[in-house]
Amino acid sequence: MKRPFVDLGACTLCMGCVEVCPEVFSQSDVGFIVVADLDDYPQACVNEAIKYCPEDAIGWEEAYVCIRVGR
Ligand code: SF4
Repeated sequence: MKRPFVDLGACTLCMGCVEVCPEVFSQSDVGFIVVADLDDYPQACVNEAIKYCPEDAIGWEEAYVCIRVGR
């Protein structure tokens, strides 16, 4: 599964992604952009935020699920 990420070092807090795709991107209490924890991300919406971001700070990354195999 893929999930969006935000490069916080590049983000200038313009709030574009929050306006375009609020179900995924929001501003945390301490001021940086956070990605919601969802089982399924709305691709069109995230891709719109990627296009909109003036700093190219948003992308997709592969999300790995950790499965613990017990003894
Ligand atoms: S659109 Fe890009 S620069 Fe603007 S707040 Fe979102 S991640 Fe940061």
